[in-house]
Amino acid sequence: MSGKHARLMREKNTIRAMIVIYCRDKHATKGSLCPNCEELMSYAKARLTKCPFQEAKTTCAKCPVHCYKPVMRDKVKDVMRYAGPRMTFKHPVLALFHFVDGLRIRKPRKGR
Ligand SMILES: [Zn+2]
Repeated sequence: MSGKHARLMREKNTIRAMIVIYCRDKHATKGSLCPNCEELMSYAKARLTKCPFQEAKTTCAKCPVHCYKPVMRDKVKDVMRYAGPRMTFKHPVLALFHFVDGLRIRKPRKGR
């Protein structure tokens, strides 16, 4: 009975959960988001809502529409890199890691 938008809902919930963790730790907010993170959140939600592929989409990596502006992509990457490993629930993380793939996060290298 999972509706057509179950996946999108889950992605939205996932990204929200991550932004909340990130904002709480990095920006010392409690239960709400700072204006910056709020903006990122609505941006990410809007992108998901407008994604022309919706349920048919594979991962953002393979998506022909590169819908994130570079600056927003960087912010989302930051959030995911920070909050991803700190997520305490499992299943959405899988979807999330597709998304992370899509954003091509690289592991930080040691030394430089
Ligand atoms: Zn914040």
